[in-house]
Amino acid sequence: MSSYKYVNFLWDDAKAASLDPVGRLVYRSNLLGSDQRITNTGGGNTSSKLVEIDPLTGQKVEVLWVKGSGGDLRTSNRDNFSSLYQDKLIALQQVYAAKANKGIKSEAEDAMVNMYFHTTFNLNPRASSIDTPLHSFLPGKHVDHMHPNAIIAIAASKNCEKLTQEIFGGDMAYVPWMRPGFELGLAMQEVARKQPSVKAIMMGQHGFISWDDNEKVCYTRTLDLIEKAAAYIEAKYAAKGGDAKAFGGAKYQSLAPEARATAFAAILPWLRGQVSQQKRFIGTVQDDEKILRFVNSKDAARLAELGTSCPDHFLRTKIKPLYIDWNPQSEDAAALKKKLAAGLDQYRKDYAAYYAACKRVNSPAIRDANPTVVLIPGLGMIAWGKDKSESRVTAEFYNCAVEVMRGAEAIDTYIALPQQEAFDIEYWLLEEAKLQRMPAEKELARQTIIVVGAGSGIGKETAHRLVKEGAHIVCVDLNEAAAQATAKEIEAKYGVGIGVAGTGLSNCGPALGLAANITDRASIRAMLDKVALAYGGFDSICVTAGIFVPSDTTGHIPDDKWALTFNINVTGSYFVADEAFKTWKEQGLRGNLVLTTSANAAVAKKGSLAYDTSKAAANHLVRELAMELSPLVRVNGVAPATVVQGSAMFPRDRVIGSLAKYAIPYTEDEATDSLVTKLAQFYADRTLTKSPITPADQAEAYFLLVTKRLSKTTGQIVTVDGGLHEAFLR
Ligand SMILES: [Zn+2]
Repeated sequence: MSSYKYVNFLWDDAKAASLDPVGRLVYRSNLLGSDQRITNTGGGNTSSKLVEIDPLTGQKVEVLWVKGSGGDLRTSNRDNFSSLYQDKLIALQQVYAAKANKGIKSEAEDAMVNMYFHTTFNLNPRASSIDTPLHSFLPGKHVDHMHPNAIIAIAASKNCEKLTQEIFGGDMAYVPWMRPGFELGLAMQEVARKQPSVKAIMMGQHGFISWDDNEKVCYTRTLDLIEKAAAYIEAKYAAKGGDAKAFGGAKYQSLAPEARATAFAAILPWLRGQVSQQKRFIGTVQDDEKILRFVNSKDAARLAELGTSCPDHFLRTKIKPLYIDWNPQSEDAAALKKKLAAGLDQYRKDYAAYYAACKRVNSPAIRDANPTVVLIPGLGMIAWGKDKSESRVTAEFYNCAVEVMRGAEAIDTYIALPQQEAFDIEYWLLEEAKLQRMPAEKELARQTIIVVGAGSGIGKETAHRLVKEGAHIVCVDLNEAAAQATAKEIEAKYGVGIGVAGTGLSNCGPALGLAANITDRASIRAMLDKVALAYGGFDSICVTAGIFVPSDTTGHIPDDKWALTFNINVTGSYFVADEAFKTWKEQGLRGNLVLTTSANAAVAKKGSLAYDTSKAAANHLVRELAMELSPLVRVNGVAPATVVQGSAMFPRDRVIGSLAKYAIPYTEDEATDSLVTKLAQFYADRTLTKSPITPADQAEAYFLLVTKRLSKTTGQIVTVDGGLHEAFLR
């Protein structure tokens, strides 16, 4: 096909020619994976059968390079591919044939997965995917297996086989739904033997596979077939009335964008609390035109109940989403909450019934019965996952499911996978083994922590400390650019994850930078609402923002500076606590609040009257809040002392002022770093531990206080001052 309308043709001959054969396979995979219309994140796989020199014999040997377990095509590199002796893989057919009690979904079939390790070429450590036999047993030197929405729409149509014939003629054969594995590979091999002219197979309820001996032809064939499917669907869709008539036409209207944001922010923390009773989840909001068209439609309730089709999709979206029949035009937020509560209750019962009806003698125990996708007319979709990346993948997969249903309903009737088949994927022992092999979750995984003051100094260091333990970090600062800079640093270090979904703020990665003025309640509320839209809620807050106002040249503190000091150091922390507590109560999950006081709270010193007094008040604020917020939220304080390095509270002139005060020699043209080091060492020498106190030392205390390590401690101040005996609390 010369021009494509529904897929991107990206092949560059010059680029391909510059690569070695494995490089070309990676290249082809990345091109295919970069177009969401070709395959979903993490879905599909590619392979090439290449001639290599066997390190054992020095002889030429055919090696199957096939995308292994984990990773996705868009970002795959060489390491994501396993390499296996093709003749040994073929020889496994005899091993399998000799087994007793073999067949689809048999133990004998599952046991073949471990046999792939025995066929490893050149010690490649990448574990093989369960789709390996599909690639090995088909005749093409190059094979693409994709999950395009347009093809799955045909695969999930009631009359799939007939439609496949009608759309593709003899170009595409058909195999009905079979759980991926050795048997599916054998079935495809049989199809290819019987129909040697065929170079593609429609896989019922799943996707398709195509092949060729030339890699560019393989690539273009994949594109051509998707293009053909999409063109067929879009013509039928348009003839049926297009968007206006999609899913039976609209039953409800979308709320305006601002009203949607308000409604989401109001409901999300509560909903997060409801679905997080066993394990906490992170949310993603999707409210673009496509998802709204679906949730607002007449057929949404019926189609949602059917669930998703492609196995890749429903492993994340669960057997079905929770659809709430709420009328955005006539019902209020209270009615929505009531319907959600009833819907969740029914969903859990349905899930338990599904498990009970489908379980087998050796099935793993029932997993979390809460929905991972919630659909609300007028608003859109909320998806849940163990972290931001996973929740974006969940949202992406339901977006795909909606596209699949749109296509299937345009050309035929959408059918989902039978429940037993879905169960046999969801509770597959191989899938369970994969879950068991996953590394233990990090200490702060599944949590979102707001760090106020994250633009610099202790706050910035704390943000970096907490993200290291798996927390999502909302970096908040009066200076928005500084907050965003810290969030960017975190993203650059940890990546944004996978999953192409999420609208607006909800499209974020593990960190987000937001502005807030903690002396202004409305500003704090707006920030907390944005956090809800981005992550669904939050677990803990660290307030590191503070101000030090030196007295003027006469030793006096102007009244407005006194007020500002108390406003930021005391009232600001109180406002944050008071506003956040409203959300914490809605969410109903245990959390932590850590405020920042100071060693000066306990030591009277000349020249810092306003600061010291405000910090003494902050110490008592910690105790008062611990009373008020218990038992839901633990409240503690960190009392740093004289952190000079990296602190916004020690600009050059304050450092010079202090050096002068303590008669420490310096010169006017000395570099700031050098001045800071001198002052830091001076302060260190006054402590019992004799070492300069760094922002990293402080960050460790915030970390401890937001973890379960100090879960029985509340209303306390942890000093990180190097040991100042004058500041010992009595
Ligand atoms: Zn697949």
